[in-house]
Amino acid sequence: MKRDVQLGGATSWLADVPCACGEKIPTPLAALLQGLPITCWNCGARLTVKQEESRESLEALGRLNERLSRIQNDIAR
Ligand SMILES: [Zn+2]
Repeated sequence: MKRDVQLGGATSWLADVPCACGEKIPTPLAALLQGLPITCWNCGARLTVKQEESRESLEALGRLNERLSRIQNDIAR
């Protein structure tokens, strides 16, 4: 996981989602948590998180995201 620093100092946390074509798609955690479809920049495939099957992982991601946001705020101070 890496931090994507954007203009204006706003940051978002990215997770690498593996695609069937072998590429890894950097995806904001917020998008994963909302179950938004992800489009592969390499092959154009649309990936969606299966909310039901991934519920536990998503909950863990949510907790992680909360913690990361807190760290982000600490850094910003
Ligand atoms: Zn792909």
